[in-house]
Amino acid sequence: MYKSHTCGQLRVADHGQQVTLAGWVNRRRDHGGLIFIDLRDRWGLTQVVFNPEINAETHATAGALRNEYIIQVRGTVNQRPAGLTNPNMETGDIEVVAGEVKIINAAKTPPFYINEETNVEEALRLKYRYLDLRRPRMRNNILLRHQVTHYIRNFLTDSGFVEIETPILFKSTPEGARDYLVPSRLHPGEFYALPQSPQQLKQLLMVAGFERYFQIARCFRDEDQRGDRQPEFTQLDLEMSFVDREDVMKLIETLFTSLTETLTAKKLVFKPFKRLSYHEAMERFGRDNPDLRFGLELKTVNDIIANSNFKVFSGTVARGGVVKGLNATGCGGYSRKQIDELTGIVKLFGAKGLAWLAVSAQADKPHRSSFAKFLSQAETDALVNAMQGKAGDLLLFVADTFETANESLGRLRLEIGNRLGLRDDNTLALCWVIDFPLFTRNEEENRWDPSHHLFTSPMDEDIPLLETDPGRAKGKQYDLVCNGHEISGGSIRIHQRAVQEKIFGLIGLNVEEAKEQFGHMLEAFEYGTPPHGGIASGIDRLVMLLAGEPNIREVIAFPKSQSATDLMANAPTPVAAAQLKELHIQLDLEKE
Ligand code: ASP
Repeated sequence: MYKSHTCGQLRVADHGQQVTLAGWVNRRRDHGGLIFIDLRDRWGLTQVVFNPEINAETHATAGALRNEYIIQVRGTVNQRPAGLTNPNMETGDIEVVAGEVKIINAAKTPPFYINEETNVEEALRLKYRYLDLRRPRMRNNILLRHQVTHYIRNFLTDSGFVEIETPILFKSTPEGARDYLVPSRLHPGEFYALPQSPQQLKQLLMVAGFERYFQIARCFRDEDQRGDRQPEFTQLDLEMSFVDREDVMKLIETLFTSLTETLTAKKLVFKPFKRLSYHEAMERFGRDNPDLRFGLELKTVNDIIANSNFKVFSGTVARGGVVKGLNATGCGGYSRKQIDELTGIVKLFGAKGLAWLAVSAQADKPHRSSFAKFLSQAETDALVNAMQGKAGDLLLFVADTFETANESLGRLRLEIGNRLGLRDDNTLALCWVIDFPLFTRNEEENRWDPSHHLFTSPMDEDIPLLETDPGRAKGKQYDLVCNGHEISGGSIRIHQRAVQEKIFGLIGLNVEEAKEQFGHMLEAFEYGTPPHGGIASGIDRLVMLLAGEPNIREVIAFPKSQSATDLMANAPTPVAAAQLKELHIQLDLEKE
Protein backbone atom coordinates (compact mmCIF):
# COMPACT_ATOMS: atom_id res chain seq x y z
CA MET A 1 0.00 0.00 0.00
CA TYR A 2 1.24 3.44 -0.85
CA LYS A 3 -0.64 5.13 2.00
CA SER A 4 -1.67 4.40 5.56
CA HIS A 5 -4.36 7.11 5.62
CA THR A 6 -6.25 9.24 3.12
CA CYS A 7 -5.75 12.97 2.82
CA GLY A 8 -9.18 13.59 4.33
CA GLN A 9 -8.83 11.37 7.34
CA LEU A 10 -6.46 12.64 10.01
CA ARG A 11 -7.73 14.50 13.07
CA VAL A 12 -6.36 15.82 16.39
CA ALA A 13 -6.87 12.37 17.91
CA ASP A 14 -4.14 11.13 15.56
CA HIS A 15 -1.54 13.52 17.04
CA GLY A 16 1.84 11.85 17.29
CA GLN A 17 1.06 9.03 14.87
CA GLN A 18 3.46 7.97 12.15
CA VAL A 19 1.60 8.06 8.84
CA THR A 20 2.23 7.65 5.13
CA LEU A 21 0.21 9.74 2.70
CA ALA A 22 0.25 9.76 -1.10
CA GLY A 23 -1.44 11.99 -3.61
CA TRP A 24 -1.15 15.11 -5.73
CA VAL A 25 0.53 18.36 -4.78
CA ASN A 26 -2.42 20.73 -4.66
CA ARG A 27 -0.41 23.81 -3.69
CA ARG A 28 3.06 24.63 -2.42
CA ARG A 29 3.97 27.60 -0.26
CA ASP A 30 7.56 28.49 0.49
CA HIS A 31 7.83 30.49 3.72
CA GLY A 32 11.55 31.06 3.77
CA GLY A 33 12.68 28.15 5.90
CA LEU A 34 9.43 26.16 6.03
CA ILE A 35 7.74 24.68 2.97
CA PHE A 36 4.03 23.84 3.14
CA ILE A 37 2.32 21.47 0.77
CA ASP A 38 -1.38 20.80 0.55
CA LEU A 39 -1.50 17.17 -0.45
CA ARG A 40 -4.67 16.07 -2.22
CA ASP A 41 -6.35 12.78 -2.89
CA ARG A 42 -9.95 11.77 -3.57
CA TRP A 43 -10.86 12.18 0.07
CA GLY A 44 -9.49 15.63 0.79
CA LEU A 45 -6.48 17.77 1.58
CA THR A 46 -3.82 17.52 4.26
CA GLN A 47 -1.16 20.09 4.99
CA VAL A 48 2.39 18.71 5.02
CA VAL A 49 5.22 20.74 6.52
CA PHE A 50 8.85 20.42 5.49
CA ASN A 51 11.31 21.78 8.04
CA PRO A 52 14.99 22.02 7.00
CA GLU A 53 16.02 21.48 10.60
CA ILE A 54 14.23 18.14 10.76
CA ASN A 55 15.50 16.74 7.47
CA ALA A 56 17.54 18.92 5.09
CA GLU A 57 17.38 16.44 2.21
CA THR A 58 13.62 16.05 2.41
CA HIS A 59 13.28 19.81 2.56
CA ALA A 60 15.41 20.16 -0.58
CA THR A 61 13.21 17.66 -2.44
CA ALA A 62 10.13 19.59 -1.34
CA GLY A 63 11.65 22.69 -2.91
CA ALA A 64 11.55 20.96 -6.28
CA LEU A 65 7.90 19.92 -6.06
CA ARG A 66 5.39 21.51 -8.41
CA ASN A 67 1.60 21.41 -8.53
CA GLU A 68 0.12 18.07 -9.57
CA TYR A 69 3.29 16.06 -8.86
CA ILE A 70 2.46 12.73 -7.29
CA ILE A 71 4.35 12.24 -4.05
CA GLN A 72 4.49 9.94 -1.09
CA VAL A 73 5.22 11.43 2.33
CA ARG A 74 6.11 9.70 5.54
CA GLY A 75 5.79 11.81 8.66
CA THR A 76 4.28 12.54 12.04
CA VAL A 77 0.84 13.97 12.71
CA ASN A 78 1.05 17.19 14.64
CA GLN A 79 -1.80 19.14 16.22
CA ARG A 80 -1.56 22.64 14.82
CA PRO A 81 -0.96 25.35 17.40
CA ALA A 82 -3.95 27.56 18.24
CA GLY A 83 -4.29 30.34 15.70
CA LEU A 84 -2.78 28.27 12.90
CA THR A 85 -5.73 25.93 12.39
CA ASN A 86 -7.76 26.10 9.18
CA PRO A 87 -11.51 25.78 9.75
CA ASN A 88 -12.11 25.52 5.98
CA MET A 89 -10.25 22.22 5.81
CA GLU A 90 -11.64 19.04 7.32
CA THR A 91 -8.11 18.14 8.39
CA GLY A 92 -7.39 21.76 9.33
CA ASP A 93 -6.62 21.03 12.99
CA ILE A 94 -3.54 18.94 12.15
CA GLU A 95 -0.60 18.84 9.80
CA VAL A 96 1.88 16.16 8.91
CA VAL A 97 5.53 16.96 9.62
CA ALA A 98 7.44 15.28 6.82
CA GLY A 99 10.29 12.91 7.60
CA GLU A 100 10.70 11.50 4.12
CA VAL A 101 9.28 12.38 0.74
CA LYS A 102 9.40 10.49 -2.53
CA ILE A 103 8.47 11.90 -5.92
CA ILE A 104 6.45 9.13 -7.54
CA ASN A 105 5.67 10.97 -10.75
CA ALA A 106 6.27 14.47 -12.03
CA ALA A 107 3.59 16.46 -13.81
CA LYS A 108 3.51 19.09 -16.51
CA THR A 109 1.87 22.39 -15.67
CA PRO A 110 -1.80 21.73 -16.33
CA PRO A 111 -3.59 23.87 -18.95
CA PHE A 112 -5.84 25.32 -16.24
CA TYR A 113 -5.86 25.67 -12.47
CA ILE A 114 -6.90 22.52 -10.68
CA ASN A 115 -6.91 24.10 -7.23
CA GLU A 116 -9.05 27.13 -8.04
CA GLU A 117 -12.59 27.49 -9.36
CA THR A 118 -11.70 29.62 -12.35
CA ASN A 119 -13.75 29.94 -15.48
CA VAL A 120 -12.24 27.70 -18.12
CA GLU A 121 -13.47 27.38 -21.67
CA GLU A 122 -15.55 24.21 -21.93
CA ALA A 123 -13.72 22.85 -24.98
CA LEU A 124 -10.46 22.92 -23.03
CA ARG A 125 -12.10 21.26 -20.04
CA LEU A 126 -13.44 18.48 -22.25
CA LYS A 127 -10.11 17.96 -24.03
CA TYR A 128 -8.40 17.52 -20.65
CA ARG A 129 -11.38 15.98 -18.91
CA TYR A 130 -9.15 13.82 -16.66
CA LEU A 131 -7.74 17.07 -15.24
CA ASP A 132 -11.10 18.79 -15.11
CA LEU A 133 -12.39 15.86 -13.05
CA ARG A 134 -9.69 16.58 -10.46
CA ARG A 135 -11.32 19.92 -9.68
CA PRO A 136 -13.48 19.90 -6.54
CA ARG A 137 -16.70 20.85 -8.32
CA MET A 138 -16.50 18.03 -10.83
CA ARG A 139 -15.25 15.53 -8.32
CA ASN A 140 -18.15 16.32 -6.00
CA ASN A 141 -20.64 16.01 -8.84
CA ILE A 142 -19.34 12.60 -9.84
CA LEU A 143 -19.32 11.45 -6.22
CA LEU A 144 -22.91 12.70 -5.79
CA ARG A 145 -23.89 10.81 -8.91
CA HIS A 146 -22.49 7.64 -7.41
CA GLN A 147 -24.42 8.26 -4.18
CA VAL A 148 -27.61 8.76 -6.17
CA THR A 149 -27.31 5.52 -8.14
CA HIS A 150 -26.20 3.66 -5.02
CA TYR A 151 -29.22 4.96 -3.12
CA ILE A 152 -31.55 3.99 -5.96
CA ARG A 153 -30.10 0.48 -6.17
CA ASN A 154 -30.52 -0.09 -2.45
CA PHE A 155 -34.00 1.39 -2.31
CA LEU A 156 -35.29 -0.65 -5.23
CA THR A 157 -33.60 -3.85 -4.13
CA ASP A 158 -35.25 -3.41 -0.73
CA SER A 159 -38.57 -2.92 -2.55
CA GLY A 160 -38.34 -6.26 -4.32
CA PHE A 161 -36.86 -5.11 -7.63
CA VAL A 162 -34.33 -7.10 -9.63
CA GLU A 163 -31.58 -5.37 -11.61
CA ILE A 164 -31.37 -6.95 -15.04
CA GLU A 165 -29.13 -5.95 -17.94
CA THR A 166 -30.61 -5.76 -21.39
CA PRO A 167 -28.66 -5.79 -24.66
CA ILE A 168 -27.00 -2.78 -26.22
CA LEU A 169 -26.86 -4.45 -29.61
CA PHE A 170 -30.52 -4.77 -30.42
CA LYS A 171 -33.20 -3.83 -32.84
CA SER A 172 -34.69 -0.38 -33.18
CA THR A 173 -36.70 0.55 -30.07
CA PRO A 174 -38.35 3.74 -31.18
CA GLU A 175 -38.79 6.51 -28.63
CA GLY A 176 -39.20 9.21 -31.23
CA ALA A 177 -35.56 9.82 -32.16
CA ARG A 178 -33.19 8.55 -34.83
CA ASP A 179 -31.32 5.29 -34.12
CA TYR A 180 -27.60 4.77 -33.84
CA LEU A 181 -26.88 1.85 -36.13
CA VAL A 182 -24.11 -0.72 -35.84
CA PRO A 183 -23.18 -2.63 -38.99
CA SER A 184 -23.01 -6.37 -38.72
CA ARG A 185 -19.84 -8.04 -40.05
CA LEU A 186 -21.38 -11.50 -40.00
CA HIS A 187 -24.56 -10.45 -41.76
CA PRO A 188 -23.59 -8.24 -44.67
CA GLY A 189 -25.88 -5.28 -45.17
CA GLU A 190 -27.64 -5.78 -41.85
CA PHE A 191 -27.54 -3.58 -38.77
CA TYR A 192 -28.15 -3.62 -35.07
CA ALA A 193 -29.65 -0.53 -33.49
CA LEU A 194 -28.50 0.80 -30.13
CA PRO A 195 -31.53 1.00 -27.84
CA GLN A 196 -33.20 4.38 -27.46
CA SER A 197 -34.41 2.83 -24.22
CA PRO A 198 -34.90 -0.74 -22.95
CA GLN A 199 -38.65 -0.27 -23.43
CA GLN A 200 -39.52 -3.47 -25.27
CA LEU A 201 -37.07 -5.57 -23.31
CA LYS A 202 -38.42 -4.47 -19.95
CA GLN A 203 -41.94 -5.22 -21.08
CA LEU A 204 -40.78 -8.67 -22.17
CA LEU A 205 -39.24 -9.13 -18.71
CA MET A 206 -42.76 -8.61 -17.36
CA VAL A 207 -44.03 -11.28 -19.73
CA ALA A 208 -41.20 -13.42 -18.38
CA GLY A 209 -42.60 -13.00 -14.89
CA PHE A 210 -40.00 -10.90 -13.03
CA GLU A 211 -42.73 -8.50 -11.88
CA ARG A 212 -40.31 -5.82 -10.67
CA TYR A 213 -37.33 -4.90 -12.84
CA PHE A 214 -34.93 -1.98 -12.85
CA GLN A 215 -31.74 -1.00 -14.59
CA ILE A 216 -29.47 2.02 -14.59
CA ALA A 217 -29.54 1.92 -18.36
CA ARG A 218 -27.62 3.70 -21.06
CA CYS A 219 -29.86 5.00 -23.84
CA PHE A 220 -28.83 6.20 -27.29
CA ARG A 221 -30.71 8.75 -29.35
CA ASP A 222 -29.31 10.37 -32.45
CA GLU A 223 -30.99 13.73 -32.16
CA ASP A 224 -29.93 17.12 -33.36
CA GLN A 225 -28.02 18.55 -30.46
CA ARG A 226 -30.36 21.39 -29.62
CA GLY A 227 -30.54 22.23 -25.97
CA ASP A 228 -29.10 20.19 -23.18
CA ARG A 229 -28.94 16.72 -24.71
CA GLN A 230 -26.36 13.99 -25.04
CA PRO A 231 -26.29 11.28 -27.73
CA GLU A 232 -25.98 8.73 -24.94
CA PHE A 233 -27.50 9.29 -21.55
CA THR A 234 -28.50 7.31 -18.49
CA GLN A 235 -31.96 6.42 -17.26
CA LEU A 236 -33.22 4.72 -14.19
CA ASP A 237 -35.47 2.37 -16.12
CA LEU A 238 -38.06 0.34 -14.26
CA GLU A 239 -41.13 -1.76 -14.90
CA MET A 240 -43.70 -3.40 -12.63
CA SER A 241 -46.47 -5.95 -13.15
CA PHE A 242 -49.98 -5.93 -11.67
CA VAL A 243 -49.90 -2.19 -11.02
CA ASP A 244 -51.86 0.88 -12.00
CA ARG A 245 -50.45 4.35 -12.45
CA GLU A 246 -50.90 5.30 -8.79
CA ASP A 247 -48.58 2.45 -7.77
CA VAL A 248 -45.77 3.56 -10.05
CA MET A 249 -46.16 7.22 -9.14
CA LYS A 250 -46.19 6.45 -5.43
CA LEU A 251 -43.01 4.37 -5.67
CA ILE A 252 -41.11 7.10 -7.53
CA GLU A 253 -42.43 9.77 -5.21
CA THR A 254 -41.21 7.91 -2.14
CA LEU A 255 -37.86 7.18 -3.77
CA PHE A 256 -37.18 10.75 -4.93
CA THR A 257 -38.35 12.34 -1.69
CA SER A 258 -36.18 10.16 0.51
CA LEU A 259 -33.24 10.34 -1.88
CA THR A 260 -33.32 14.13 -2.00
CA GLU A 261 -33.71 14.51 1.72
CA THR A 262 -31.00 11.97 2.51
CA LEU A 263 -28.37 13.14 0.05
CA THR A 264 -28.91 16.87 -0.25
CA ALA A 265 -30.02 19.96 1.62
CA LYS A 266 -32.48 20.92 -1.12
CA LYS A 267 -35.95 21.94 -0.07
CA LEU A 268 -38.90 20.16 -1.63
CA VAL A 269 -41.68 22.62 -2.40
CA PHE A 270 -44.41 19.96 -2.71
CA LYS A 271 -44.90 17.01 -0.38
CA PRO A 272 -46.75 15.11 -1.76
CA PHE A 273 -45.73 16.15 -5.26
CA LYS A 274 -48.13 18.47 -7.02
CA ARG A 275 -50.34 17.06 -9.78
CA LEU A 276 -51.55 18.81 -12.90
CA SER A 277 -53.43 17.51 -15.88
CA TYR A 278 -51.74 18.12 -19.21
CA HIS A 279 -54.55 20.51 -20.08
CA GLU A 280 -54.16 22.50 -16.89
CA ALA A 281 -50.38 22.69 -17.32
CA MET A 282 -50.79 24.09 -20.83
CA GLU A 283 -53.54 26.50 -19.77
CA ARG A 284 -51.77 27.88 -16.71
CA PHE A 285 -48.09 27.62 -17.61
CA GLY A 286 -48.02 27.24 -21.39
CA ARG A 287 -45.99 24.02 -21.26
CA ASP A 288 -46.16 20.45 -20.05
CA ASN A 289 -42.96 20.83 -18.03
CA PRO A 290 -43.81 23.87 -15.92
CA ASP A 291 -41.42 25.41 -13.41
CA LEU A 292 -43.57 25.58 -10.29
CA ARG A 293 -41.09 27.32 -8.06
CA PHE A 294 -43.06 30.47 -8.81
CA GLY A 295 -46.52 31.66 -9.90
CA LEU A 296 -46.82 34.23 -12.73
CA GLU A 297 -49.55 32.09 -14.28
CA LEU A 298 -50.88 32.65 -17.78
CA LYS A 299 -54.50 33.71 -18.23
CA THR A 300 -56.74 33.53 -21.27
CA VAL A 301 -58.63 36.79 -21.70
CA ASN A 302 -60.62 36.02 -24.86
CA ASP A 303 -63.98 36.85 -23.29
CA ILE A 304 -62.85 40.35 -22.31
CA ILE A 305 -61.37 41.51 -25.60
CA ALA A 306 -63.29 39.44 -28.18
CA ASN A 307 -65.35 42.44 -29.27
CA SER A 308 -62.79 45.18 -28.76
CA ASN A 309 -61.66 47.59 -31.45
CA PHE A 310 -58.11 46.32 -31.15
CA LYS A 311 -58.08 44.10 -34.21
CA VAL A 312 -54.95 42.22 -33.17
CA PHE A 313 -56.94 40.86 -30.21
CA SER A 314 -60.47 40.58 -31.60
CA GLY A 315 -59.27 39.27 -34.98
CA THR A 316 -57.27 36.51 -33.30
CA VAL A 317 -60.28 35.40 -31.29
CA ALA A 318 -62.46 35.52 -34.43
CA ARG A 319 -59.96 33.19 -36.17
CA GLY A 320 -60.22 30.69 -33.34
CA GLY A 321 -57.01 31.76 -31.60
CA VAL A 322 -56.38 32.93 -28.06
CA VAL A 323 -55.23 36.05 -26.29
CA LYS A 324 -53.22 35.08 -23.22
CA GLY A 325 -51.52 37.26 -20.71
CA LEU A 326 -48.93 37.16 -17.98
CA ASN A 327 -48.51 39.60 -15.11
CA ALA A 328 -44.83 40.46 -14.67
CA THR A 329 -45.34 41.70 -11.14
CA GLY A 330 -43.42 44.83 -10.28
CA CYS A 331 -41.94 45.22 -13.79
CA GLY A 332 -44.13 48.26 -14.65
CA GLY A 333 -41.06 50.48 -14.65
CA TYR A 334 -39.47 48.57 -17.55
CA SER A 335 -38.03 50.83 -20.25
CA ARG A 336 -38.97 50.51 -23.92
CA LYS A 337 -35.64 48.79 -24.45
CA GLN A 338 -36.39 46.18 -21.79
CA ILE A 339 -39.86 45.59 -23.22
CA ASP A 340 -38.29 45.24 -26.69
CA GLU A 341 -36.06 42.50 -25.25
CA LEU A 342 -39.13 40.65 -24.00
CA THR A 343 -40.77 41.10 -27.40
CA GLY A 344 -37.65 39.56 -28.96
CA ILE A 345 -38.14 36.47 -26.80
CA VAL A 346 -41.77 35.84 -27.77
CA LYS A 347 -40.87 36.41 -31.42
CA LEU A 348 -38.14 33.83 -31.15
CA PHE A 349 -40.85 31.35 -30.21
CA GLY A 350 -43.18 32.20 -33.02
CA ALA A 351 -45.35 35.04 -31.72
CA LYS A 352 -45.86 38.02 -34.00
CA GLY A 353 -45.54 40.54 -31.20
CA LEU A 354 -46.07 41.37 -27.55
CA ALA A 355 -48.82 43.72 -26.35
CA TRP A 356 -48.11 45.32 -23.01
CA LEU A 357 -49.65 47.49 -20.33
CA ALA A 358 -47.81 48.99 -17.36
CA VAL A 359 -50.36 49.51 -14.61
CA SER A 360 -50.30 53.17 -13.57
CA ALA A 361 -49.13 53.99 -10.07
CA GLN A 362 -51.82 56.66 -9.70
CA ALA A 363 -55.50 55.87 -10.15
CA ASP A 364 -56.17 59.10 -12.11
CA LYS A 365 -53.23 58.66 -14.49
CA PRO A 366 -53.63 56.55 -17.67
CA HIS A 367 -51.65 53.31 -17.94
CA ARG A 368 -48.62 53.25 -20.19
CA SER A 369 -49.56 50.73 -22.89
CA SER A 370 -49.00 49.62 -26.45
CA PHE A 371 -52.70 49.00 -27.06
CA ALA A 372 -54.95 50.51 -24.34
CA LYS A 373 -55.89 53.41 -26.62
CA PHE A 374 -57.84 50.94 -28.76
CA LEU A 375 -59.86 49.61 -25.82
CA SER A 376 -62.75 51.16 -23.94
CA GLN A 377 -62.12 52.12 -20.33
CA ALA A 378 -64.37 49.26 -19.22
CA GLU A 379 -62.39 46.75 -21.31
CA THR A 380 -59.09 48.02 -19.96
CA ASP A 381 -60.34 47.88 -16.39
CA ALA A 382 -61.67 44.36 -16.89
CA LEU A 383 -58.35 43.28 -18.39
CA VAL A 384 -56.27 44.73 -15.55
CA ASN A 385 -58.68 43.15 -13.13
CA ALA A 386 -58.53 39.73 -14.75
CA MET A 387 -54.73 39.83 -14.64
CA GLN A 388 -54.82 40.98 -11.00
CA GLY A 389 -52.74 43.96 -12.09
CA LYS A 390 -51.63 46.29 -9.34
CA ALA A 391 -49.81 49.59 -9.52
CA GLY A 392 -46.33 48.97 -10.88
CA ASP A 393 -47.13 45.66 -12.63
CA LEU A 394 -46.41 44.98 -16.29
CA LEU A 395 -49.10 42.99 -18.13
CA LEU A 396 -47.88 41.15 -21.21
CA PHE A 397 -50.13 39.63 -23.88
CA VAL A 398 -49.73 37.41 -26.91
CA ALA A 399 -52.54 36.95 -29.44
CA ASP A 400 -52.00 33.83 -31.52
CA THR A 401 -52.89 30.19 -31.94
CA PHE A 402 -53.23 28.23 -28.68
CA GLU A 403 -49.88 26.50 -29.38
CA THR A 404 -47.88 29.63 -30.24
CA ALA A 405 -49.37 31.71 -27.42
CA ASN A 406 -48.46 28.95 -24.97
CA GLU A 407 -44.99 28.33 -26.34
CA SER A 408 -44.01 32.00 -26.46
CA LEU A 409 -45.62 33.11 -23.19
CA GLY A 410 -44.48 29.93 -21.43
CA ARG A 411 -40.89 30.86 -22.36
CA LEU A 412 -41.45 34.48 -21.40
CA ARG A 413 -42.72 33.35 -18.01
CA LEU A 414 -39.43 31.52 -17.40
CA GLU A 415 -37.46 34.61 -18.44
CA ILE A 416 -39.46 36.87 -16.10
CA GLY A 417 -38.96 34.26 -13.37
CA ASN A 418 -35.20 34.56 -13.97
CA ARG A 419 -35.29 38.35 -13.97
CA LEU A 420 -37.26 38.43 -10.74
CA GLY A 421 -34.92 35.92 -9.11
CA LEU A 422 -37.72 33.41 -8.55
CA ARG A 423 -35.84 30.34 -9.77
CA ASP A 424 -33.82 29.42 -6.71
CA ASP A 425 -31.63 26.35 -7.20
CA ASN A 426 -31.96 25.34 -3.58
CA THR A 427 -35.62 24.45 -3.94
CA LEU A 428 -37.04 21.63 -6.02
CA ALA A 429 -40.65 21.84 -7.18
CA LEU A 430 -41.72 18.35 -8.26
CA CYS A 431 -44.95 17.88 -10.11
CA TRP A 432 -46.71 15.04 -11.90
CA VAL A 433 -48.31 15.86 -15.21
CA ILE A 434 -51.01 13.34 -16.11
CA ASP A 435 -53.95 12.81 -18.45
CA PHE A 436 -52.02 13.43 -21.64
CA PRO A 437 -53.75 12.97 -24.96
CA LEU A 438 -52.73 9.56 -26.31
CA PHE A 439 -51.88 11.01 -29.72
CA THR A 440 -50.89 14.18 -31.46
CA ARG A 441 -52.04 14.69 -35.02
CA ASN A 442 -49.43 14.52 -37.79
CA GLU A 443 -51.21 16.28 -40.66
CA GLU A 444 -48.25 16.01 -43.03
CA GLU A 445 -48.17 12.23 -42.83
CA ASN A 446 -51.93 11.89 -42.29
CA ARG A 447 -51.58 9.77 -39.19
CA TRP A 448 -51.49 9.93 -35.41
CA ASP A 449 -48.19 10.14 -33.53
CA PRO A 450 -48.05 8.70 -30.02
CA SER A 451 -47.60 11.48 -27.43
CA HIS A 452 -45.49 9.17 -25.29
CA HIS A 453 -44.68 5.98 -27.17
CA LEU A 454 -46.55 3.30 -28.97
CA PHE A 455 -46.88 0.93 -26.03
CA THR A 456 -48.77 3.37 -23.78
CA SER A 457 -52.24 2.18 -22.86
CA PRO A 458 -55.27 4.35 -23.52
CA MET A 459 -57.52 5.06 -20.54
CA ASP A 460 -59.90 2.09 -20.28
CA GLU A 461 -62.94 4.28 -20.88
CA ASP A 462 -61.29 5.81 -23.97
CA ILE A 463 -60.63 2.53 -25.83
CA PRO A 464 -63.86 2.96 -27.88
CA LEU A 465 -62.56 6.39 -28.98
CA LEU A 466 -59.77 4.64 -30.89
CA GLU A 467 -62.45 3.72 -33.43
CA THR A 468 -64.33 7.00 -33.47
CA ASP A 469 -62.20 9.94 -32.34
CA PRO A 470 -58.60 8.97 -31.46
CA GLY A 471 -57.60 12.61 -30.89
CA ARG A 472 -59.81 12.72 -27.80
CA ALA A 473 -58.42 9.55 -26.21
CA LYS A 474 -56.26 10.07 -23.16
CA GLY A 475 -53.32 7.85 -22.23
CA LYS A 476 -52.23 6.29 -18.97
CA GLN A 477 -49.07 8.38 -19.11
CA TYR A 478 -47.37 10.28 -16.30
CA ASP A 479 -44.46 12.69 -16.49
CA LEU A 480 -42.51 13.94 -13.52
CA VAL A 481 -41.33 17.51 -13.83
CA CYS A 482 -38.82 19.29 -11.61
CA ASN A 483 -38.08 23.02 -11.85
CA GLY A 484 -39.13 23.09 -15.49
CA HIS A 485 -37.31 19.91 -16.56
CA GLU A 486 -39.02 16.65 -17.40
CA ILE A 487 -37.08 14.20 -15.25
CA SER A 488 -39.23 11.08 -15.62
CA GLY A 489 -41.79 9.74 -18.01
CA GLY A 490 -43.70 6.53 -18.01
CA SER A 491 -47.02 4.84 -18.52
CA ILE A 492 -49.19 1.84 -17.97
CA ARG A 493 -48.72 -0.30 -21.08
CA ILE A 494 -50.96 -2.10 -23.44
CA HIS A 495 -50.96 -5.81 -22.64
CA GLN A 496 -53.46 -7.07 -25.18
CA ARG A 497 -52.57 -7.87 -28.74
CA ALA A 498 -55.76 -6.45 -30.24
CA VAL A 499 -55.34 -3.03 -28.63
CA GLN A 500 -51.66 -2.93 -29.59
CA GLU A 501 -52.52 -3.78 -33.20
CA LYS A 502 -55.13 -1.04 -33.23
CA ILE A 503 -52.52 1.51 -32.09
CA PHE A 504 -50.05 0.32 -34.74
CA GLY A 505 -52.75 0.94 -37.33
CA LEU A 506 -53.49 4.46 -36.09
CA ILE A 507 -49.83 5.45 -36.19
CA GLY A 508 -49.67 4.33 -39.79
CA LEU A 509 -48.04 0.89 -39.60
CA ASN A 510 -49.71 -1.66 -41.83
CA VAL A 511 -50.04 -5.24 -40.64
CA GLU A 512 -46.88 -6.35 -42.45
CA GLU A 513 -44.76 -3.49 -41.07
CA ALA A 514 -46.08 -4.02 -37.56
CA LYS A 515 -45.23 -7.73 -37.75
CA GLU A 516 -41.80 -7.05 -39.16
CA GLN A 517 -40.88 -4.46 -36.50
CA PHE A 518 -42.80 -5.62 -33.45
CA GLY A 519 -43.88 -9.17 -34.21
CA HIS A 520 -42.03 -10.43 -31.13
CA MET A 521 -44.05 -8.09 -28.90
CA LEU A 522 -47.38 -9.04 -30.45
CA GLU A 523 -46.53 -12.68 -30.15
CA ALA A 524 -45.44 -12.31 -26.53
CA PHE A 525 -48.76 -10.69 -25.66
CA GLU A 526 -50.41 -14.01 -26.45
CA TYR A 527 -48.49 -16.03 -23.89
CA GLY A 528 -49.94 -14.69 -20.66
CA THR A 529 -48.91 -11.06 -20.32
CA PRO A 530 -49.72 -9.42 -16.99
CA PRO A 531 -50.96 -5.84 -16.83
CA HIS A 532 -47.81 -3.78 -16.38
CA GLY A 533 -46.38 -0.31 -16.40
CA GLY A 534 -43.21 1.56 -15.61
CA ILE A 535 -41.21 4.68 -15.86
CA ALA A 536 -37.79 5.98 -16.82
CA SER A 537 -36.02 8.81 -15.02
CA GLY A 538 -33.14 10.78 -16.46
CA ILE A 539 -30.25 10.24 -14.07
CA ASP A 540 -28.17 12.99 -15.67
CA ARG A 541 -30.90 15.57 -15.22
CA LEU A 542 -31.76 14.40 -11.75
CA VAL A 543 -28.14 14.69 -10.59
CA MET A 544 -27.83 18.04 -12.36
CA LEU A 545 -30.76 19.38 -10.34
CA LEU A 546 -29.51 17.85 -7.10
CA ALA A 547 -26.06 19.34 -7.70
CA GLY A 548 -27.48 22.71 -8.74
CA GLU A 549 -25.59 22.59 -12.05
CA PRO A 550 -26.75 24.41 -15.18
CA ASN A 551 -26.34 21.52 -17.63
CA ILE A 552 -25.98 17.74 -17.70
CA ARG A 553 -22.40 17.79 -19.03
CA GLU A 554 -21.33 18.89 -15.54
CA VAL A 555 -22.52 15.62 -14.02
CA ILE A 556 -21.25 13.19 -16.68
CA ALA A 557 -17.66 12.02 -16.39
CA PHE A 558 -16.95 11.99 -20.10
CA PRO A 559 -19.71 13.84 -21.95
CA LYS A 560 -19.85 14.64 -25.63
CA SER A 561 -19.58 18.26 -26.70
CA GLN A 562 -22.69 20.06 -27.88
CA SER A 563 -21.88 18.95 -31.39
CA ALA A 564 -21.84 15.30 -30.26
CA THR A 565 -18.06 14.86 -30.39
CA ASP A 566 -15.61 13.52 -27.86
CA LEU A 567 -12.97 16.25 -27.69
CA MET A 568 -10.55 14.21 -25.59
CA ALA A 569 -10.19 11.04 -27.65
CA ASN A 570 -11.43 12.73 -30.80
CA ALA A 571 -14.49 10.76 -31.84
CA PRO A 572 -16.09 10.19 -34.22
CA THR A 573 -13.22 9.68 -36.67
CA PRO A 574 -12.85 8.16 -40.13
CA VAL A 575 -11.81 4.50 -40.06
CA ALA A 576 -9.44 2.51 -42.22
CA ALA A 577 -10.73 1.26 -45.55
CA ALA A 578 -9.97 -2.31 -44.49
CA GLN A 579 -12.24 -2.03 -41.49
CA LEU A 580 -15.05 -0.68 -43.62
CA LYS A 581 -14.60 -3.47 -46.10
CA GLU A 582 -14.90 -6.04 -43.35
CA LEU A 583 -18.20 -4.46 -42.44
CA HIS A 584 -19.30 -4.52 -46.08
CA ILE A 585 -19.51 -0.73 -46.17
CA GLN A 586 -18.51 1.46 -49.06
CA LEU A 587 -18.46 5.23 -48.62
CA ASP A 588 -19.68 6.42 -51.95
CA LEU A 589 -22.06 9.21 -51.08
CA GLU A 590 -21.14 12.60 -52.53
CA LYS A 591 -19.93 15.03 -49.89
CA GLU A 592 -22.74 17.49 -49.22
N1 ASP B 1 -39.10 4.13 -22.23
C1 ASP B 1 -39.67 5.43 -21.97
C2 ASP B 1 -38.66 6.51 -22.25
O1 ASP B 1 -37.48 6.24 -22.31
C3 ASP B 1 -40.09 5.62 -20.58
C4 ASP B 1 -41.09 4.60 -20.13
O2 ASP B 1 -42.21 4.62 -20.63
O3 ASP B 1 -40.77 3.83 -19.23
O4 ASP B 1 -39.01 7.67 -22.42
